[in-house]
Amino acid sequence: MTEKPILLEIKDLQVHYNVRTGTVKGVDHVDLFVYEGETLGLVGESACGKSTLGRAVLRLVSEPGKIVGGQIIFDGEDLLAKDEHEMAHIRGKRISMIFQDPMTSLNPLQRIDQHFIETIRAHEKVSKAEALERAGVMFDHLGIQRERLNDYPHQLSGGMRQRVMIGLALILNSELVIADEPTTSLDVIVEAQILDLLKDLKQTYHMTLILISHNLGIEAELADRLAVMYAGKLVEVAPAQELFDEPLHPYTQALLASVPNIRLEDEELHTMRGSPPDLIHPPAGCRFHPRCPQAMERCRYEEPPYRQIHQNRWTACWLYED
Ligand code: SF4
Repeated sequence: MTEKPILLEIKDLQVHYNVRTGTVKGVDHVDLFVYEGETLGLVGESACGKSTLGRAVLRLVSEPGKIVGGQIIFDGEDLLAKDEHEMAHIRGKRISMIFQDPMTSLNPLQRIDQHFIETIRAHEKVSKAEALERAGVMFDHLGIQRERLNDYPHQLSGGMRQRVMIGLALILNSELVIADEPTTSLDVIVEAQILDLLKDLKQTYHMTLILISHNLGIEAELADRLAVMYAGKLVEVAPAQELFDEPLHPYTQALLASVPNIRLEDEELHTMRGSPPDLIHPPAGCRFHPRCPQAMERCRYEEPPYRQIHQNRWTACWLYED
């Protein structure tokens, strides 16, 4: 079987936040790759580092965060070696991002058509009329009437605004799209519509997608592979179905056990014990050991390496040493 080409490879990435009380290692020595054309789901509890990792790919980590080490190889080139001018050409054109909250990403004083015209003309030499026509075609794909291009953001519903954000991310045919909790602020019906839309557009635009979400139900709908983060570290990567059928890492097992399943009436819902650790002073050894029901003595002082267990599966846990 021929191996699929890799579009993005993150090597030993470290992102730190220097705060008054110390250094938060938001992303701590993470290695991860994304195949061309796949949807990679990035999951974990709040503040585990998944959004920081997504933003780091575009070098858009929020202050006081800083990328302090590693490489981000996109299409064979290290994005961390590029100057700001080169990155400005890559952002939006070759890699784009769908943010959590469209209201804070759209300019409330600008009509929607102006957002599209500016985005297109920032990267391509086309007339306003051509840019507007492309925005109209995109609105057809998004299932929004073209005349709504004349609206201001506040005149659109939450679902429509999120569709607009998706349209802006795809309008330049980016090779890689990073969607950070794209349905968080939506009700379940609109959420389902947005997920269907993402599925359709992924086929139409042949994009590679990194889907960041704390919601495993959403990931089950869309992801080909899943990467699980805990306390700034990657703890498991696997094809989505294999991970749902047989999670290896005790954290992944606990995460899956805490998702309610309405098909199983009498099933007990498990809550994960303890809380995520303080990332300024994380636990020694395996960071999950204070919450892990399978922790062994060595887990308290020796950190398990993140390594390949068998084809397509990686984890960081002493239970799989052999
Ligand atoms: Fe649990 Fe130990 Fe594995 Fe960490 S290394 S997940 S503490 S068994």
